[in-house]
Amino acid sequence: MEKLSIVVPCYNEEEVIEIFYKEIEKVKKKFSKKKVKLEVVFVDDGSSDKTLEIMKKLSKKERYINYISFSRNFGKEAAMLAGLEHASGDYVTIMDVDLQDPPELLFEMYDLIKIEDYDSVGVRRTTRVGEPLIRSFFARMFYKLINKISKVEMVDGARDYRLMTRQMVNSILSMKEYNRYSKGLFSFVGYKTKWLEYENVERVSGETKWSFWKLFIYALDGIVAFTTAPLMIATIIGVIFCLISFVAIIFIIAKTLIWNDPTSGWPSMVCIMFFLSGIQLFCTGIIGWYLSKTYLETKRRPVYIIKDTNL
Ligand code: UDP
Ligand code: MG
Repeated sequence: MEKLSIVVPCYNEEEVIEIFYKEIEKVKKKFSKKKVKLEVVFVDDGSSDKTLEIMKKLSKKERYINYISFSRNFGKEAAMLAGLEHASGDYVTIMDVDLQDPPELLFEMYDLIKIEDYDSVGVRRTTRVGEPLIRSFFARMFYKLINKISKVEMVDGARDYRLMTRQMVNSILSMKEYNRYSKGLFSFVGYKTKWLEYENVERVSGETKWSFWKLFIYALDGIVAFTTAPLMIATIIGVIFCLISFVAIIFIIAKTLIWNDPTSGWPSMVCIMFFLSGIQLFCTGIIGWYLSKTYLETKRRPVYIIKDTNL
């Protein structure tokens, strides 16, 4: 019998976890008709509510449900990694617990891999209904930008929800980097991927764990993890400004020699100084960002720490 593992990262999800369980029970029944066994790996990402308690209760009740609990909140990326590392299925999927990743899509995903020989089936939402407008705007901009400056293709609206073969999961796990950006890693490993489209579903209960700021930093992490283009851009900006100032200096010398100009234009000078030091700081910042990531990478710290598990 084949086994399908569902990895479920959870952070303070006491409100939705039981609702999720009920949906998974339905999926499980249908899959057992297809002779596919299910396994659920809940990852408690350092929740401070009753999430872990409920997970423990469910795993006592059902043998196919397992849990891993972190010693603190390590973020969704870490939770996904822990889940993938501990999942034992022939097929593995990552699913949000808030039912924004419709569990019924799993059947179609499974068939596509089984029958049409894909290695992975991902889902992308075509609408962003129920999301703040400004967030959608920045998300679109981010995908446009990263696809221009990075060789690894990232699909707009793609979710972390996808079904993968064991081979693909192993490839993803073979990448040991500390700064993990899954959307990029999935795309980096290659393989044949099919995209299913669906309309955005709002979460059943509770609220999103991502603030605008958290998402913004996550986007920057994605850029730093998958392209060094910003370093190149910083260099080019530097060269352009050197050229401009060189031309300007020659112009000023010529002007002084011909018209013997008295000192004037201090305000404009101050503006230019501010502008240029702004650019300098910006570029140093870019370099610093890469340096800090390299720094964390060389420390080889664990991506997550497990405090409690039944596995
Ligand atoms: N999540 C997590 N750790 C975090 C933040 C979120 O494990 O630090 C989980 C969360 O419990 C949920 C999934 O990641 O299952 C997606 O989070 P959320 O629904 O808040 O994000 P959104 O759907 O709004 O992008
Ligand atoms: Mg959600």
